Amino acid sequence: MPVPEDLLAIMACPVCHGALEDRGEGLACTACGLIYPVRDGIPIMLPEEASRTGGEPPA
Ligand SMILES: [Zn+2]
Repeated sequence: MPVPEDLLAIMACPVCHGALEDRGEGLACTACGLIYPVRDGIPIMLPEEASRTGGEPPA
């Protein structure tokens, strides 16, 4: 379920306050690269729930 663009526009990364973009599997911070999961259409904007792009191999 996509996150509405007007909601995206007012949200920011809680870590670096960067802009977010909808990547389908979650909301990606365009500044620091963290991806926040979206569950049932609700973005989980918690740093401890976020995953990083690229770097770490899947467990
Ligand atoms: Zn960020």
